[in-house]
Amino acid sequence: MSQEPINKQTREFQAETKQLLDLMIHSIYTNKEIFLRELISNASDAIDKIRFESLTNHDLLEGQSDFEIFIVPDESTHTLTISDNGIGMTYDEVVENIGTIAKSGTKSFLEKLKEKETATDNELIGQFGVGFYSAFMVSDKVTLITRAPGQAKGVKWQSSGDGTYTIEEVEKETRGTSIIITLNDEFTAADGSKENFLDRYTIENLIKKYSDYIRYPIKMNFIKEEKPKDEEGKVIEDAPATQTVEVRTLNSMTPLWTRNKNEISAEEYHTFYKNLFHDWEDPLKLIHSKAEGTVEYTSLLFIPSRAPFDLYNQKSSSGIRLYSKQIFIMDNCQDLLPEYLRFVKGLVDSPDFSLNISRELLQHSKQLKLIGKNLEKSVLKTLENLLANERPTYEKFWKEFGKALKVGAYTDFQSRDKLKDLLLFSSSHATEELTTLHDYIERMSENQKVIYYATGKDRASVERLPQMELLKEKGIEVLYLYDQVDEFTIDALQEYKEKKFQSISRGELNLDDIDSPEAKKDTEAILKENESLIKAIKEHLKGKIADVKISNRLKSSAVCLVSDDNGISLSMEQILSEMNNTMYKASRILELNPNHDVFTVLKDLHEATPDSEAFKDYCDLLYVQAMLIEGLLPEDPISFANKVSNLMARKG
Ligand code: ADP
Repeated sequence: MSQEPINKQTREFQAETKQLLDLMIHSIYTNKEIFLRELISNASDAIDKIRFESLTNHDLLEGQSDFEIFIVPDESTHTLTISDNGIGMTYDEVVENIGTIAKSGTKSFLEKLKEKETATDNELIGQFGVGFYSAFMVSDKVTLITRAPGQAKGVKWQSSGDGTYTIEEVEKETRGTSIIITLNDEFTAADGSKENFLDRYTIENLIKKYSDYIRYPIKMNFIKEEKPKDEEGKVIEDAPATQTVEVRTLNSMTPLWTRNKNEISAEEYHTFYKNLFHDWEDPLKLIHSKAEGTVEYTSLLFIPSRAPFDLYNQKSSSGIRLYSKQIFIMDNCQDLLPEYLRFVKGLVDSPDFSLNISRELLQHSKQLKLIGKNLEKSVLKTLENLLANERPTYEKFWKEFGKALKVGAYTDFQSRDKLKDLLLFSSSHATEELTTLHDYIERMSENQKVIYYATGKDRASVERLPQMELLKEKGIEVLYLYDQVDEFTIDALQEYKEKKFQSISRGELNLDDIDSPEAKKDTEAILKENESLIKAIKEHLKGKIADVKISNRLKSSAVCLVSDDNGISLSMEQILSEMNNTMYKASRILELNPNHDVFTVLKDLHEATPDSEAFKDYCDLLYVQAMLIEGLLPEDPISFANKVSNLMARKG
C-alpha cells in the first residue's frame, strides 16, 4: 500500500490559536524555561498512552519497547530537539491538536482578555494552562515531526508563530514525536548573561528541577573530551584529546507519590503539580494520603490557585489521573470525584485496578466508588479546615471555585448537606466581609424566624431595593446574592439549621410586628377602604400582574414588585429567560405603599374620574417603575417614555 505523500501545505491557524500564540510570544512571563518542562510532560503523556494501549495491542510497539525521551542540543543549528517514542500523531491529529484549540470557551476567554488590559500576563496565561505553545516563548521556529504507530508516513509541522504553519507528510522511521526548537538568539548566548538552553548543564539542571519524577528516562548525550594518559596514569598534555560520547539519564524516575510524605518538600510537591497539570502557579493546597484496608491506594490531590477560564464550560472533565502500581491507566477519570469537585487535580494509584480495565468497567467498579467517597471526604475536610483555620486562604479559594460548590449544592442532591457549611455570602452585616450561614445565624436575634436574602447585580443595587428599607431600619441582616446561581442554591437548600430562607422580594416577610394580627388587621382595613381602587388597578394591569396588595414592607418608596412564595422569583425568571427558557414565569404582585403621596393622588384620581386616561397612565407608570426597580425592562419603553414626558409637560 504505497500512497503518494501529502505535499507541503501552508495553513492558517485558527483565529483563537493565533491570539493565544501572540500572547505566548509577547508574554512578559519571565519564567520562560518552563517550556522544557511542558514539552517533556507532553512526551511523557504520549509514552503513557502507547504503553497503556500496547497492553492490549502489542503490535503498536513495532518491536520497540524501551520507552525514553531524548534531548539533543545542537550548537551549529541553534536547535534543541526533544524526542519521544510515544504514541505520536497522525496527520489529522496534528491538524486538530496543534493547529486548533479544542477547548470550549476559548473564544470568549480571549475576548475578555482583550478588554482586560490591566491584568498582568501571568494571571491571564495562568487561566489557560501552558502546553505545547510555550515553545514559542523561546524560539523563532518550531518544527514537529511525528509518526503514529502503524502509519506508513510521518508528518512534519512547522511554524514561526506568525499566524500560519506548514504541514506535509515525510518519512519517519521511528515511532513517536520530535520537537525541534530553533532557539531565539536571546537564549543561546554562551557568555552567561542569560539562560543558554543549548548548554548541557543548564538542561540537566532544568530536568532535575522540573522533570525529575518523569517515569521514563530523559536522556542526553554528554561529550567527554579526554587526553590520553601515560603508563603512570598522568595526562599527556600535548597529545590530541579524544572524544567519547556518554549517554546519561538525567532524571531519578521515582514517582513522587510513592515516597514518604515526610521526606517530600513543598517545593517538590509544587514542581510535580505544575509539571503534571501544566499550571503556571503553585497549588493552593495539597492532600497526600495512603490507604490500606478494604481498598488500597495512594492519592495525591491538589486544589489549584486559580480556576481555569473554562471551568464552567467544560462538561464534567475531571482532573484526576488513575494509575496502577505506578503505571498510567487514564486521565480525566470522571467517576472518582463528584462533578462539583472537578476543579481538583491529582492522581490515584491503586494496585486494585487491572491495567486493561475499560472506562465502562471502571464506572461500575466498587473499589473506584469507595475511593471516590474517601477522596470527596478528604477534600471537604480540607476545605472545612481551611475555612476554620486559614480564612484568607479559604476566601481566595472561594473567589476562584465558590461557584462550583454553589452549583454543587444546587444540582447534587446528595452533597447539599455536606456543602452548606462551606458556602460564603455577602451580607448587609459588613461591606468587605463574606459570611457563612452559621455566622449569620449566630448574629440573628432570638425572635428572627427566617434567614433573609436579597438578589441583585451588586451591593449598591441590592441596597437600593425598596424592599430593603424596612429591614435596614430594623437592623436585620440580609444576605446579598449577586451570582446567578446563588438563588437556585438557596432555593435548593430551603433551610439552614431549621431556619427557612426568605427572599425580601417574595411572599410575606415573616416579621413579628408587621405580620402580627394587629398589623394585619390594619392592612386589611386599608385594603377594605380602598377595595374599588385596588380592583381598578388590578383590572387595568390584567395579564401583567397576578395581584395588587397593600404593602407593609415599604417605607419611603411608592411601589415594589414581589413574587409569591410558590413558583420562581423574578430574578430566577430573568436568569431562565437569558437561557432562553421562557416556560417559567414568576407570579408578579404589585405592592403599593399606602403611606406614600402617590397613593393618595391615585386614590383621588380614581374617585374623581375612575375611567380616565390619566388614572390608567398612572397605573402603567407605577407598574413600570416597579419593574425597573427589579432590573426588568418595560415591555413598551416608548409608551412609558411618552407617559413620563406628558406628565412632565403637565402644567399646574
Ligand atoms: P495539552 O497537553 O494541555 O492537551 P498541548 O498544547 O500541550 O495541550 O498539546 C496539545 C495536544 O497535542 C496534546 O493533548 C496531545 O494530544 C498532542 N501532543 C502534544 N505533544 C505531543 C507528543 N509529544 N506526542 C504526541 N502527542 C502530543
